[in-house]
Amino acid sequence: MQHAKCISLHPACIAPEQLVTQSLQSEPVAEIIAIGDELASGQRLDTNSQWLSQQLGDIGIRVHFHTTVVDELEDIQDAIDHARDRAAIVITSGGLGPTADDLTRQAIASVAGVPLELHEPSWQHIQHLFASRNRTMTENNRVQAMLPKNANVIFNELGTAPGIDIVLSATNTICRLFALPGVPYELKLMWDEYVLPQLQEQFGEPGIIVHHSIHCFGAGESEIQSRLPDLIDRGRTPGVGITASKATITLRISAHADSADDCRKLITPVAQRIRDELGDLVFGENGQTLDQVVVSQLAERQQKLAVVDMGGCSLVAQWLHSADAQGEVYVGTISLAVPRDFDKALELARQAFDVDLVLIIGPGFDHQGHAKRDVMISANDRRVRHRFPIAGHPSLVIQRSVKQALNFLRLSIERGKL
Ligand code: ATP
Repeated sequence: MQHAKCISLHPACIAPEQLVTQSLQSEPVAEIIAIGDELASGQRLDTNSQWLSQQLGDIGIRVHFHTTVVDELEDIQDAIDHARDRAAIVITSGGLGPTADDLTRQAIASVAGVPLELHEPSWQHIQHLFASRNRTMTENNRVQAMLPKNANVIFNELGTAPGIDIVLSATNTICRLFALPGVPYELKLMWDEYVLPQLQEQFGEPGIIVHHSIHCFGAGESEIQSRLPDLIDRGRTPGVGITASKATITLRISAHADSADDCRKLITPVAQRIRDELGDLVFGENGQTLDQVVVSQLAERQQKLAVVDMGGCSLVAQWLHSADAQGEVYVGTISLAVPRDFDKALELARQAFDVDLVLIIGPGFDHQGHAKRDVMISANDRRVRHRFPIAGHPSLVIQRSVKQALNFLRLSIERGKL
C-alpha cells in the first residue's frame, strides 16, 4: 500500500518531511477522544466516536483507542498526552464552544506548549454568524476564535466553533491532531470537507477496510470458536472476530487492502471455510436476520405462514411483519393468553387463515426441573415438533424463544421436512 505524499501543514518545530517520513513508516493508527461531561456520565451516547471510527476504517486507518473524558482541563490534557504517543492521528470531538467548560483548545495548546492566539478570520466569521441570525453576541464567544499558535484552522461552515489541525511532537514520533466540535452535523461536514482530504493527502491511499459478517444460531460462542480455533487468532490476516448478541453469534471478517476487490479476495476463502465448518448453524450474512431468512425461504416457495403464540412471544409478529414488507408471506399471529393444546391451536389458525404453514409456539413449562417450550410447525399433511430449553436471563428469554422457533422453521425447510 502507498503511504506517502507531501502535505501542506507547516507547524513550528515539525518539518514537513518528518510527516512524510512518518506516513511512510507503517500503517497509520488513530485514536478518538470524545470530550464532554454528558458523555462520560452516560447522559448522551457518544455517536461521534462510532461515526469517526467507521470513516477512518473506510480509508484503511485502524482505530486502537476510544477515550471519553470529562470537561476538566487536566483530564483532557492527560488524554491527549497519552494519545499522541500511541497514534499517528488523534481526533477529538467536543469542548470547542464558548462556555467555561469548553476546554479543548486550552488543553491542546498546553500539550503543544504554545499559547492561544486570536485568529482574526474566525472571529469575523463568528460575528457574521451572530449578525446574520439576528442574535446578540456576548464577549465570551471571542474565545472560540482563540486557537493554538501555528495550528491550522478548520473552517466551521455550520457553527461558530472552528476546528483545529495541529501537529504534536510525541516521544518517538509525531502525531497529527484534529479537534472538531461536538455537534454531530458540524463534525461530519468538517470531516468531509477538511479532515478526510487532509488524511488522504498525508497518507496517500492507505487502502480500505471491508468487513463481512456471518451470522449463526444454535450453538454458543465458545463452541463456535472451538470449531474454528486458528481463524479467531489475533494478528491473523484477514482478522476474524466473534461476538454474541441475544443468542445470535456473529463472525466478522475484516480485510485491509488497497481496494474493495482485493479485500473481497481475502475474505472469500475465509468466509467459505466458516460456512463449510459450521454448516447449517449459519443462517445469514451481513446483517440478515432469522425472520428475513424465513420470509425469503417462504417467498421463494410461494407459501403463506400464520403463527399461533401461546407463550408470550408476540414479538414474533412484530419481526415477521417488518421482515415481510410486501405482505407476500406472513398473514398474521393469533396470541392466546390461555394456552390450548396444539391440535386446538392449529384448528384455530386454520379457521382464521388460509395458509400453507402454521408455526405454533407453546407456553413455557417445567420439565424435570428445567424450563422448556415446545414449538410445532404444520404444513398440510406434515408436522414437525421440537422441545427447546428456555435458558438465560429473563430479558433474553422471549427473543431467544422467537429465534429458536424461526430457526426451527428455517432448518425444517432446508432439511426438506416440510
Ligand atoms: P458548541 O459550539 O455547540 O458548544 P462543542 O464543540 O463545545 O460545540 P459540545 O458543547 O461538547 O461541543 O457539544 C455540543 C452538542 O453535541 C451537545 O448536544 C452534545 O451533547 C453533542 N455531542 C458532543 N459530543 C458528542 C458525541 N461524541 N457524540 C454525540 N453527540 C455529541
